[in-house]
Amino acid sequence: MVLFHNKSELQIHLKNKCRDAGKIALVPTMGALHKGHLSLVTKGIQENRTVVVSIFINPTQFDKREDLEKYPSTLKKDLELLATVSEKLIVFAPSVSEMYPDEVSTKSYNFDGLEDLMEGSFRKNHFNGVATVVEKLFRIIEPDRAYFGEKDFQQLAIIKKLVKGVNLSVEVIGCPIVREGNGLAMSSRNNRLSKENRAIAGFIYSTLETAKNLFGTKSALYITDWVKKEFLKHSEFSLEYFEIADEVNLRPIKKRQDKIKYRAFIAVYLQEVRLIDNMPVN
Ligand code: AMP
Repeated sequence: MVLFHNKSELQIHLKNKCRDAGKIALVPTMGALHKGHLSLVTKGIQENRTVVVSIFINPTQFDKREDLEKYPSTLKKDLELLATVSEKLIVFAPSVSEMYPDEVSTKSYNFDGLEDLMEGSFRKNHFNGVATVVEKLFRIIEPDRAYFGEKDFQQLAIIKKLVKGVNLSVEVIGCPIVREGNGLAMSSRNNRLSKENRAIAGFIYSTLETAKNLFGTKSALYITDWVKKEFLKHSEFSLEYFEIADEVNLRPIKKRQDKIKYRAFIAVYLQEVRLIDNMPVN
């Protein structure tokens, strides 16, 4: 495994040792790695000659300072975990000044309104921050393919738009959500939950499953109402949003159409930890 903190050194390595040898994949992460991240890395290895895993806690995508400060930084452990997957990985772990040499600023994008829905409406400027850092990573690494998790489904849709909008030739590949035994979507934030809460957090998944089953016979309005009531019954949780939306444009469902694929999206607070999840419903 090779570790780079410096972008020019990484670029020289890629040019001399990788670029002509085959496809280059990028797996962007913020570290505190778990099996969800590793599934992306594994897919990257299966489909490409070179895999770069970036580990960078991007300050511009945090809307709350305390969230950024609380974000776990575990580089040594992350490298050990990555080494269990492959010794051939390239890891890029830059500092903030390496990624934002002039000033820590956020570029403003237009994603046709995608950025204002769901996550975007609760986390102002979040997707501009994500796109800013992903565009920087794409320009530094120039990958052929980039792997993102469906766990952050809206982010995946935004990155696909970003690539078109700024004319980059990266193939963006979505990967399925990896879950814990009780169905909780794996996340670096899960470590902040107490053991008890981590166990009950499977309720988010089971609610999505029931919503999916209900979607066969009930209206989206009925299901949304039902989900709200379910969360009111479980006071450990605080529901931020639940929505059934078109999987392509992420607009909330109005009149159901047979040809359209819908997905349920949810954001919930448990013990002040914000958890998101989603599931296809048809
Ligand atoms: P993060 O480190 O949280 O920014 O995540 C880095 C990448 O891993 C993103 O593309 C996420 O969508 C993906 N990811 C995070 N958790 C999971 C999971 N449980 N299953 C699949 N992908 C995930």
